Amino acid sequence: MRAAVFVGPRTFEVKDIPDLEIGPGEVLVKNQVSGICGSDIHLYSDTIPEFTPRILGKVLGHELCGEVVTVAPDVANVSVGQRVAIEPLLKCGHCSFCSAGDYHLCPELQHVGIGWSGGFGEYAKAPAKNVYSLPAHISYEDASLLDVLAVGIHAINKLGVHTGSTVLIFGGGAIGLATAQAAKWAGASLVAIATRSKLAREFALSAGIDLAIDTTRDDVGERLREVTDGLGPDIVFDAVGGKQRYVQQGIDIVRRGGKVGVLGGFPAQPVELGGDFLIKEVDVVACFSYARWGALSEFQIALDGLATGKFHGRQYISQRFPLDEIAHAFEVAQHKDGQDAIKVSIVF
Ligand SMILES: [Zn+2]
Ligand SMILES: [Zn+2]
Repeated sequence: MRAAVFVGPRTFEVKDIPDLEIGPGEVLVKNQVSGICGSDIHLYSDTIPEFTPRILGKVLGHELCGEVVTVAPDVANVSVGQRVAIEPLLKCGHCSFCSAGDYHLCPELQHVGIGWSGGFGEYAKAPAKNVYSLPAHISYEDASLLDVLAVGIHAINKLGVHTGSTVLIFGGGAIGLATAQAAKWAGASLVAIATRSKLAREFALSAGIDLAIDTTRDDVGERLREVTDGLGPDIVFDAVGGKQRYVQQGIDIVRRGGKVGVLGGFPAQPVELGGDFLIKEVDVVACFSYARWGALSEFQIALDGLATGKFHGRQYISQRFPLDEIAHAFEVAQHKDGQDAIKVSIVF
């Protein structure tokens, strides 16, 4: 099959590689649309060097969906020709975390697209239990956003966003926007997004987000105090990543007794919990990936939200590239050419 193989920092080789073989309980999927995630950019750029040995010579891409082309003989619930999305988290299934539904914390956790061959090749394989059937009206472009939407759902579940909550999100990438849409779905009375991206601000307003703040021009704290009777929002999310200062800014802006959710990673940067962290009694909460919430997986909740119009899907995709142009796609996803982007996708 044709695939983009990661051969070293900032380098893909698009070439023919041996076809994937499936084992018991697995299915083979012909990829249709694969999103480029912020974590793919970290992996590709070698900013998390401890991951490099795991992905060297492998095919990245964990925001993936497509058509089932082969199923193992022991698979009963998935059939050839089915349109599916793949939940990329590969859990052991029997440790205490998996048993509790917190499989994102499984010590044995692996991911399709991080070590396992992923979405930036013609085909991917996955355990049948990781495959979700797509309703007819959900396109592959919509489905390629499910991983992102599930991250947003997990974040609002973890921080307890509810009816009447006031929420600020730093970051206008796909994760920030998905968290904003999830907060609206949960019933938040005010959801504001703060970003320098004009494209993201326009998207947010068209998606029903109440307030889109231009961080290049406006004082975010001041704008939030104006709309919360001077208190500040109940919850602030850092969905920027790469810069720890948004956690500190969140602590400054959030109301007394509020919560700051950390979605964006910032390798090798310590977070200083200075300022009013203690006397405001702020909870700083990590939001990593997603798993099960109550009876359902958050991936399934995302699919339900997409199917019922609570989330946008393909509208997140700002640029599309064929597999052969993956190097350029990664440049665009990092805004290297000056273009504004929300989600950059590889379309087969
Ligand atoms: Zn991701
Ligand atoms: Zn486990």
